[in-house]
Amino acid sequence: MPDVYDPLETAPRDDLAALQLDRLRWTVSQALRSPYYAKLLADLKLGPDSVASLADLRRFPFTDKKHLRDGYPYGLLAAPKDAVVRMHHSSGTTGMAIAVFHTRRDIEHWADLIARCLHMVGVRKGDVFQNMMTYGLFTGGLGLHYGAEKLGCFIIPTGAGNSHRQIQFMRIFDTTFIHIIPSYALALLGAFEEMGVDPRSLSLKLAVGGAEPYSEGIRERLQEAWGVPFYNCYGLSEMQGPGVAFECPEQQGLHLWEDSYLVEVIDPDTGEPKPDGEQGELVLTSLAREAMPLIRFRTRDLTSLITEPCPCGRTHRRLTRIEGRSDDMFIVRGVNIFPLQIERVLMSMPEVGRNYLIVVDRDGYVDRLTVRVELTADAFQGDLAQLRALQDKIAHALREEMMVTPRVELVEPGTLPRQEGKAIRVIDERKL
Ligand code: ADP
Ligand code: ZN
Repeated sequence: MPDVYDPLETAPRDDLAALQLDRLRWTVSQALRSPYYAKLLADLKLGPDSVASLADLRRFPFTDKKHLRDGYPYGLLAAPKDAVVRMHHSSGTTGMAIAVFHTRRDIEHWADLIARCLHMVGVRKGDVFQNMMTYGLFTGGLGLHYGAEKLGCFIIPTGAGNSHRQIQFMRIFDTTFIHIIPSYALALLGAFEEMGVDPRSLSLKLAVGGAEPYSEGIRERLQEAWGVPFYNCYGLSEMQGPGVAFECPEQQGLHLWEDSYLVEVIDPDTGEPKPDGEQGELVLTSLAREAMPLIRFRTRDLTSLITEPCPCGRTHRRLTRIEGRSDDMFIVRGVNIFPLQIERVLMSMPEVGRNYLIVVDRDGYVDRLTVRVELTADAFQGDLAQLRALQDKIAHALREEMMVTPRVELVEPGTLPRQEGKAIRVIDERKL
């Protein structure tokens, strides 16, 4: 049995299911206090008594980002306003951002879930935590902060950016773990080079990376360069923020905390459940959120459920690495493409460096796809013939993956724009 923060992590599945059923009924009664669910559920004649078993969840309709936007700001608030102690706002990556409210109990519960996640990968009292996620409305900063505080960590709340200072702090205060957006963790490697510091020479034990999709190839590059494991952390503002699902030391999928969330994976087109193991859209029902419970919330994130027990001994099922959002998909000459497909091909090539950018535009009436690729310093030294051959190799490999031939532009290391927040991987000029 693993050394757990919360005995619920290894609870037998039957006990978990019983807890879920109780909490689902509570969630429905709590949701009824919000204007949105009060009307919706009254129209449908649904209430806590409609939930005789977990299967009854399917009697409830989906909640979508659109409902949150339409109800902005308080349409889904289920607690009296004076019980709200904090709000966060989503980043607005895919349109108008939405506000999410928290009661004191919500903040406590969130901190406990984060403490559970961090404890799972070996964080303990006394660890020095440099939190390189933006603080403020974005949940990444404060979310991890409160959980780490619960464990008794020494926290350095640097937030993102100011790369040279980040590195100085890591050296002066002997930082043992960081929380960072993966694309910023890659960009920071450039700052290490500028300062002549080897990240592997630091006191770091581990890193937590999340908030944006990244491929296994990027993880491998990060682990190699930083010399520590990078653990994937998933979450979304609507469900609290980070800590909804988190990798255990096995690094084979992210345990989704099923005492706090009910998980479904559906076909995004039909809304029907996907068989276990098949990729689809993640749908979550909060089970412990008081200020803003959400029933069957469509995350638009694409993943699949791993139902085999995890060797670590935790009983909560795992999600596979999030592939991206259904709305990340873009269409070029009639072909559907996900950015991560391109990333996977690029990261399988040793000549490819740390950054890339996908640009889609139109040449007359025809869509044109350009992939700008930073090379490693070594690869960039090659002569023109070698570079041409590499360009062809990348274009060919991408064509094999996507069935569309892109233009490939090779650029020097460090020349593509760097971001401190979520990476922008695709620029679609057709929409401008
Ligand atoms: P926004 O939806 O405006 O970006 P959030 O800050 O709430 O606002 O971001 C949550 C979203 O970020 C998730 O729905 C998901 O698309 C993405 N995300 C978060 N963590 C991960 C992760 N570990 N892997 C892939 N995507 C992630
Ligand atoms: Zn595990």
